[in-house]
Amino acid sequence: MSKTIFDKFLSGEVPVDPIFENDDVLAFHDINPQAPLHVLVIPKSKVERFARLCEWDDAQAGRFFKAVSEVARNLGLEEKGYRIVLNNGFHAGEEVEYLHAHILGGRKMSWPPG
Ligand code: AMP
Repeated sequence: MSKTIFDKFLSGEVPVDPIFENDDVLAFHDINPQAPLHVLVIPKSKVERFARLCEWDDAQAGRFFKAVSEVARNLGLEEKGYRIVLNNGFHAGEEVEYLHAHILGGRKMSWPPG
């Protein structure tokens, strides 16, 4: 399995400027923001994509989603709302094969997604 940029952030091979970190996750700004606020949250324990999350135990999966919620709260996005995106595989346009939740906020989103 080849190393992704997110593996390299976690190993320290490539520097990253975290906006949030705990035992389970690391969060940082997306390099190519699609909204005024666009943050990625990755688990420190590697899983390639959302489809593999069912292999985790409940507590680990729960801690990941709890951290995503906490990051969004810390960003002050609760009042106006925000979107969580988990691109899973080719049809979803997933580019980085390392589970990451996008938190997008700061503007009104449209639906359906493109
Ligand atoms: P996805 O299409 O869901 O796989 O999203 C991958 C995301 O990672 C994209 O939004 C990219 O802009 C973002 N990304 C790629 N490289 C970096 C990087 N070096 N730092 C921050 N975000 C990155």
